[in-house]
This record gives sequence, C-alpha cells and structure tokens, in this order.
Amino acid sequence: MTETKCYFCKGKAESSPKTGNSLGFDGYTVHCEICGHYNISDEEKFYLETSGFPMVKFVNCIAENIAIHKDEKIPTWISKHQELSGNVGKMVRRNIDEIINQPILHSDKPLSFLKLAASKLIKNTPFDTVVFNLQDFYSLKISEEHEAYEWMKYLKQEGYISSYQVGTDKLNSTTLYLTFKAWQLIEESYRNIHTNQAFIAMSFSEDLSEVEESIKKACKRAGWDAITVKDGDKQYIGLVNDEIIARINQSGFVVADFTDNKRGVYFEAGYASGRGIPVLYTVKKDHMEGEETAGKKLHFDTRNILYIDWKDAADLEKRLFDKIEAVINNKKEKRWISL
Ligand SMILES: [Zn+2]
Repeated sequence: MTETKCYFCKGKAESSPKTGNSLGFDGYTVHCEICGHYNISDEEKFYLETSGFPMVKFVNCIAENIAIHKDEKIPTWISKHQELSGNVGKMVRRNIDEIINQPILHSDKPLSFLKLAASKLIKNTPFDTVVFNLQDFYSLKISEEHEAYEWMKYLKQEGYISSYQVGTDKLNSTTLYLTFKAWQLIEESYRNIHTNQAFIAMSFSEDLSEVEESIKKACKRAGWDAITVKDGDKQYIGLVNDEIIARINQSGFVVADFTDNKRGVYFEAGYASGRGIPVLYTVKKDHMEGEETAGKKLHFDTRNILYIDWKDAADLEKRLFDKIEAVINNKKEKRWISL
C-alpha cells in the first residue's frame, strides 16, 4: 500500500496496483477515508486525472462509492468495454462516464438531509445533537462548504432545524438539532414503509403481456404485490388519471418499464420520484442503442439513468428480483437510511 490522494475526492488514501489476474483488469485497489475501499482500472484512473474537471464534478461518483459501501459491496470502476473476471464476489461494476453526468436533484436535498439526520438519532431521543461529517455531506451530493451553509440556513429558516454549527475542519463535526416539524416531514415521507404494494408503469401493448407477468413474478418472489392501472385508450395516449396518482402514492416503489416509450410512463416515474417513492427503471435492450426507429429510442433526458436493459422476459424477471432485493428490501429493513 502506498499513500496517495483519492482519485475521486482527493482525500487521504492508500492504493496498491493490481494486475488483470485478480480483478480481470489492470488497475488499483484504493482505500480512501471518505470513499472507502474501491477498485479502479488504469483507464478510468487516467480519465479522472486528465479530464480537467474540478473535484465537485465527481460528487456523483463519490456518493456512489459511499452508497455501494452501505450495501457492503465494493465499487469497481471500469470502462464500458472492460470485463470483470475471476472472483467477482462483492464487486459492483460502475463506469465513470455513466455516473458522472447523472442529474443531481437539488430540491430533493433538504428531505434527504433530514432523513440522514434522523437515521443518526435512531438510538437517541428526537431532539439530541446530530453530528455530520464530511462523508455525510458527500453522500448527499453536497461537496463544498458554501453549499452546506446554504442548505442549513434554509432548513433553519423553514423551521426544520432549531440551530446548527458548521464544522470548520472540512465540514467534519457539524452539529444540528431537529424540530418537531422535521420529524413530521420525515415520518410522512416513510408513510409507505409498511405497504407491500408496488406499482407498475409500462406500455400495455399486447406483445408486452409476458413482460408484465415477469415484473409481477419478480415482485411476488421479493414479497411485493405489483399492481397496474389499465385505462384502455387513455393510458395509450399518455393521460394519467386520479386512480393512477392514488395508487402510486400508496406504493412502496414503482417499476417503470420504458419499452415502447409511452409518455404516461415518463410522467408516472417522474411523479413517484418527486414524491420520494423509489423508481426502478427497466427497458428492452434494443431501446438503449441502435437505430432511432419507430419512436422507440429512449427520450434523451433519461438516458443517464441506470436501467435494467433486459433481453427477454426471463432475463427481466431475474434481474428485477435481484434489484428489488438489493435496493428496496435492503432499505426496508434499514428504514432510516436515506434514499
Ligand atoms: Zn475518496
């Protein structure tokens, strides 16, 4: 192990070179104080070092490192054309190009901030001191002090925190106190925690009926009853009715399949996501690449989202089940861990 700076957050880290034999590619294993243990290929490391982007540009990747660690897995950054091999085990494959440009929903940050604060009080009383460190801010995609100040000023103004003190050592040891109003908002956002209903947003064309079945089976195996709201022609032309809105609000998560590129699916996924309801994105593989024919290619703005790009119904069922287990069921148990 050689002392180095983390390739993502520039914090204190140790790294050691690895050859293709152990990881399937040439690169480094890094232990960073903020990002934790990750693997990175020579190509991806080169990209980070030569892209010329400021560090804040990497906040998506840093938050991804932290999130993967919470799931007790090891982020492994490699190029699209590279393969993992050997004992992949806990390695989770990621590509910098795909993660770095994911949109950051700034308006979600206040609620995520409060949820993270609440998760730190799980063994305390509700108005005890909450302590945030730099890693907590990175996990919320807040990478510099000025932004942290602005969010805490806003939360105090709105009555969600009663007081705060920003840590002077790179935001470490920041302290704050939650209010009753904060607990109301946090608990409201977890209102669906006990439901076992999931909502499916998809095209209901006949040739996708097998796909609908595979989504339902995957949900069932993972302990969820997946429902659809079919409203004939209205769904087809992309209108969303009150029943759809009500059903989404009652659901623990939404599976949004973008095959056939229906407008209703974009709306339902966006609505759920805005309400803090997790959305799992799926699409038939040929919609991700190739010719832009028959209006099937994905809408540009959502192409940075990580989709399950399924080959056939069986492939979708297997991968969706794994995703629900990893992303939804895992969080359900750790209910206070922020989204
Ligand atoms: Zn780092």
